[in-house]
Amino acid sequence: MSSRFIRSFYMVSSLLGAYLAFEIAAFAQTANEAWKAEGIINTSASPKAQVHSVPIRAVTMGDGFWSERMRTNAEESIPTLLALLEEHGVVDNFRRLSGRKNASRKGPLYTDSDLYKWMEAVAFVLQSGDRPQLRQTLDKLIDDVLAAQEPSGYLNTYYVGERAKLRFTEMYRSHELYCLGHLLQAAIAYYRATGDRKLLDGGIKYVDYVLHTLGPEKKPALTGHPEFEMALVELYRTTGDKRYLDFVNYLFTGEKLRLQLTDDQVTYLFSGIPFTSRTELEGHAVRALYACSGATDYYLETGDPNYGDTLDRLWKDLVSRKMYITGGVGSYAEGEAVGGAYDLPNQRAYAESCAAIANLMWNWRMLAGSGDAKYTDVIERALYNGINSGMSLSGTLYCYRNPLLSRGAEDARQPWYDTTCCPPNLERTFAAIPGYLYSTSPSGIYVNLYHSSTLDWHLEDGTELKLVQRTKYPWNGDISLTLRPAKPTTFTLYLRIPEWASKATVTLDGKPAPGKVKPGEYFAIHQEWKSESTVGLQLDMTPHLVAANSLVPEDYGKVAVQRGPLLYCLEQVDQEEKGSIFDVTLSASAGPNWGFTWEFRPDILGGIMVLKHQGKAPAKPLSEQPLYQTIERTPRGEEKEVNLTFIPYYAWANRLPGAMEVWIPYASSSQIRK
Ligand SMILES: [Zn+2]
Repeated sequence: MSSRFIRSFYMVSSLLGAYLAFEIAAFAQTANEAWKAEGIINTSASPKAQVHSVPIRAVTMGDGFWSERMRTNAEESIPTLLALLEEHGVVDNFRRLSGRKNASRKGPLYTDSDLYKWMEAVAFVLQSGDRPQLRQTLDKLIDDVLAAQEPSGYLNTYYVGERAKLRFTEMYRSHELYCLGHLLQAAIAYYRATGDRKLLDGGIKYVDYVLHTLGPEKKPALTGHPEFEMALVELYRTTGDKRYLDFVNYLFTGEKLRLQLTDDQVTYLFSGIPFTSRTELEGHAVRALYACSGATDYYLETGDPNYGDTLDRLWKDLVSRKMYITGGVGSYAEGEAVGGAYDLPNQRAYAESCAAIANLMWNWRMLAGSGDAKYTDVIERALYNGINSGMSLSGTLYCYRNPLLSRGAEDARQPWYDTTCCPPNLERTFAAIPGYLYSTSPSGIYVNLYHSSTLDWHLEDGTELKLVQRTKYPWNGDISLTLRPAKPTTFTLYLRIPEWASKATVTLDGKPAPGKVKPGEYFAIHQEWKSESTVGLQLDMTPHLVAANSLVPEDYGKVAVQRGPLLYCLEQVDQEEKGSIFDVTLSASAGPNWGFTWEFRPDILGGIMVLKHQGKAPAKPLSEQPLYQTIERTPRGEEKEVNLTFIPYYAWANRLPGAMEVWIPYASSSQIRK
């Protein structure tokens, strides 16, 4: 071997070695930073997931409807709620256990979950970008939480001291596993924001203690308030440890007999019997919908057809018989329960903000399993209406209940509730919005929701893709998408055509896109995408009237007004003329566009599109008419025209407490309300 050859050999091999070392380092970095690629739920390896979440950080929100909400959320809601959590002793409940604070325990037994949800909200905010001060605050709170953890791993501020002997003995009410579920979700969101495992490791330590203590051949376990199931599946997705997934099946198999639950408890808790034996959605609305969300997660990982069939059955029961037009769920205050079929009272509606959020979470998982736009329609309905109504425009007041009719006496919004589940739940939902806009599948990219934004991500084959969406949605139905793949690539763009969009057109580089556009489906454009293409979507934003199924007695003979995804309402404060909003009837003969005109008003309620309509009202106010009178004696025809102003439902109760109505009597001729 010549010396020259040997030298060359060494040069090549050392270069190769250096190259390999570089590749290995790059790989390790990629592996170490897998958290950066994980979305709200990480379904990237879920066998039954058809479409996959993109990470929140891949989406930069442009100006508009939700970015305004998200700014208020991060800058007003999150800090003010933390101050209230401090004021009400929720954080001190942890500090007292580590001796950092000498304070008595305060609040109901589930307060730990309120802090965890707040932490998750902050973690989602951090996934959208650095906020050093917020990060620092969160880090300190994580230290406070972890300092309260017992060496065994157990971590709950209520079942301590005198009550320690009751641990895992009253699971139908204890919320121990519920709180742990929220701890895990916060920990996973924080890990996905920062790569820091400290809270995650604390959560895992507690879960491992639970798995050591509870389960088959051990103490029987029950999620008295489902939620832990969702968190456990996400922990499985994060760690790959299959014990967590198996335990979810154990929880869903039910422990009614060993825990001696009554039938009423089984209904109310939506737990305790096999999930797959469920035939209808019933019981406590949030519990039922959290259970369905967790069961969908389980299905996505296992493909168990019994779960799939049950979920389809329950989903159909919900959307065809039991869901409010707002996407809210829960007809009765008693038991905070899902109503019976078609029993959807408006004034007494419970429709807890958390239930609308749970509805979104469940449908997000159902969408993952199918790519079916019917789930995205529910997501949009709930997000813009029944969830969005839950927080004031100031970001500091919250609705626990979200009724569809108010006589104005009650104070709908409060800064704090003794059971303050909804405020941090709303905060974590708004903070996560960028993660709902887009999904990927092996065949391409899905546009689920419309908002100005930039997606900087890649197709599932690894091709980098930049997608810029420009729109003033939901005020305007014109949407423009610019797609820039890193190299010419064949894939499908799936554009969601909302179910409410009676007319929609799609253009590709200025020409009509081939194919039939159908409301309630994803419109697919399959082609080789060159360096830059522009897709236009025009959705008809003419207001329309929506009727409920006639089996809903509360809404019979009435209509709701919708424009785009937004549901509208009448609020007394906006009406120029004297007279109650409860006297009025809408009139279809009032002109084109169902008699509606619209105008953007930047000066009220943070900037909204206001709708105007000329309706009718009896000349003599209804409140001056008898409670009952024979039809013949009713003064027909003595009516007057009234100019009505509608605002989006989500913006109600942001001014003086006043009357509000969503479902309004409707006359196709000149009949007036009787
Ligand atoms: Zn709530």
